[in-house]
Amino acid sequence: MVVGSIELLPVPDAVGLLADYAEVYPKVPAEEWEPYRELYPGLFSGASWRLPCNCFLVRSEEVTILVDTGVGPPGLWDWTAEDEGRLPAALDDLGTRPDDVDIVFLTHLHIDHLGWNTGLEGAAFFPGARYVVHGDALAFAQNRPNLPHIRRCIEPLVDRFEIITGDVELAPGVVAFSAPGHYPGHMALRLASDGQDAVLLADIAVHPAMLDRPGLPYASDLDQAACAETRRALLPEIVDREVVVACGHYPGTGIGRVVTRNGRVVWEEAP
Ligand SMILES: [Zn+2]
Repeated sequence: MVVGSIELLPVPDAVGLLADYAEVYPKVPAEEWEPYRELYPGLFSGASWRLPCNCFLVRSEEVTILVDTGVGPPGLWDWTAEDEGRLPAALDDLGTRPDDVDIVFLTHLHIDHLGWNTGLEGAAFFPGARYVVHGDALAFAQNRPNLPHIRRCIEPLVDRFEIITGDVELAPGVVAFSAPGHYPGHMALRLASDGQDAVLLADIAVHPAMLDRPGLPYASDLDQAACAETRRALLPEIVDREVVVACGHYPGTGIGRVVTRNGRVVWEEAP
């Protein structure tokens, strides 16, 4: 996908079973998932949520940015993985080596967004990159030093993180913006180039059903009310608009558009 003169490329890392829907959406009866099961069959495996975990490469003449670093090498996360550890090969397929990455932009510090911050030996996996993260996210993670993914993927890098505290232009046409609710300091990304636009949702709406029902209470949204508000505020910008909408937890490439179909707000993968 090209947004003006900026490339937006999916970097698949992992897919697996996160949990049963009933566990992470305890207030949503099973039958309410049926329309979404039809719309997004790849996100369901029986009663479980089948979760892709993709990252994105944002590449222009000026800069190469990796947005999030996935689940990481196999074994770090105790989940039911179907496939994991793909990011290095996926980057290679795109012609990008780890030391080509100028900026690693971390939308937040959940386990499925930071796995390749470091390699297996604990050193930075992207040796030449600026690692950019919101200060509130880093502080929250550092308060949990016993979590294995924090110990392995955050602690060794504390001295090289570049802290941001709000909206910031990472590169020409690439703007990180605050998207409160899912995690402290949670950030998303806008791309704008030559009259074309894209929004990278990060985990504003981890499941596309939450675009249709922005109030859906999801257990891993730390502040559910703020999350719902963030979704509601963003929808007018992305629904039925000429704007590319990407999320690493959506099916396929995770790159598409948000449209109204039969009265529902639906994310559709770009052809
Ligand atoms: Zn996530």
